[in-house]
Amino acid sequence: MAENGREGGLDAPTRHPLNQNDPEFWDEDLLNKELERVYDICHGCRRCVSLCNAFPTLFDLVDESDTMEVDGVAVADYTKVVDHCYLCDLCYLTKCPYVPPHEWNVDFPHLMLRAKAIKFRKGDTKFRDSIITSTDMVGKLASKPLINSLVNGGNKNSAIRGMLDSTFGIHKDARLPHYSSQTARKANAVKVFDPDSKAEPKQSVGKVALFTTCYCNYNEPHIADSVIKVLEHNNVEVVLPEREHCCGMPKLELGDLATVNKLKEQNIPVLQRLAREGYAIMAAVPSCVLMFKQELPLMYPDDEAVQEVAAAFHDPFEYLHKLHKDGKLRTDFKTKLGNVSYHVACHQRVQNIGPKTRQILELIEDTEVKSIERCSGHDGTYGVKKETLQFANKIAKPIIRQIEQQEADYYGSDCPVAGRHLENNLDSGKETSHPIDLLRLAYGI
Ligand code: SF4
Ligand code: SF4
Repeated sequence: MAENGREGGLDAPTRHPLNQNDPEFWDEDLLNKELERVYDICHGCRRCVSLCNAFPTLFDLVDESDTMEVDGVAVADYTKVVDHCYLCDLCYLTKCPYVPPHEWNVDFPHLMLRAKAIKFRKGDTKFRDSIITSTDMVGKLASKPLINSLVNGGNKNSAIRGMLDSTFGIHKDARLPHYSSQTARKANAVKVFDPDSKAEPKQSVGKVALFTTCYCNYNEPHIADSVIKVLEHNNVEVVLPEREHCCGMPKLELGDLATVNKLKEQNIPVLQRLAREGYAIMAAVPSCVLMFKQELPLMYPDDEAVQEVAAAFHDPFEYLHKLHKDGKLRTDFKTKLGNVSYHVACHQRVQNIGPKTRQILELIEDTEVKSIERCSGHDGTYGVKKETLQFANKIAKPIIRQIEQQEADYYGSDCPVAGRHLENNLDSGKETSHPIDLLRLAYGI
């Protein structure tokens, strides 16, 4: 098997389970030994230097140490690298030649996650980070009618933003999401799945359960609406799960594995039932799809319900592409899109589904889609924190340059949060468009 383990081997990377139930996972001395081992491999390799700020932070620590090797870096500084990782997974999937089955067994994102989990368990987490990762709680509160206007008004008020910056650590220039009082689940309450319904099933080419996601539910319900409209236009039945909680990705990125577990216990039975009823499950935020398709299965490899839900989960364009392959997707588009600058979100890239968004958008007449495969740097929270917004903006720069050069009619990302981050950095007055909104526009519906 030596062939399997060598650098440049042709075997597909294999991902090992996270193993969070093994007591050794939580042992800080073992963690630090593993960090030292992997940091040393990375120092000798340095391929990932341009991906995010975790690697430059590591290499600066090494280069500025007395020995100019990892043994010269103080163990207390290891966490400085961890704080810059937002688990986009790109280093694992697109760069690293030492991932399993290579014998060096480098899984940088999982190692960062383990470090974050230990840090969280020690209570070494800012109050701010616990709040901004509670997307469901914040969304529920901020979408309540009166509070809603106060939150949206406050987000645009420079005095309030200055106060949030100095007391809470939310950067005053970070773009904060708008909260809608008419959430996607409220607007589509009639579509909530009723397990006791006696209604005759409608004739359709497929059945989809839309997991609206915290972001599309509270912040941009028009995206959920476009998913529904596009699917129904293609004669697909759409329901919403009876109940929905955050997928857990923000808490995973914080290292709060206990809350991830709680959210999993709340979501999975509801979604498993839908999967068993034959529904494909879908979400229009790639991070939420990845959570159900990859992260939860790696945390709970023996949980059949988690695996069943993972098998049923789809990216919207992956599902539409399947319809197209079966000759069931309508292609009678009414509006051409022209040139589209399309940012491929990291959490969609790592799903390994191929360029399905581009392929579907290019079915539209007179439409050319130029893909940009780079991290936007937002990550949901990295792009709003006082200490990291500057890095999030720096990471976005190469994408901004490409969008400007492409002089596109439309630009956007499958990740709506990344799309808004790009919009903020572009500062051209032109709004970002989610690809599903573009498809809806092309259909004229
Ligand atoms: S997972 Fe993403 S953010 Fe984390 S170290 Fe790798 S490339 Fe950087
Ligand atoms: S994660 Fe892999 S590719 Fe990236 S710097 Fe480390 S060893 Fe090199």
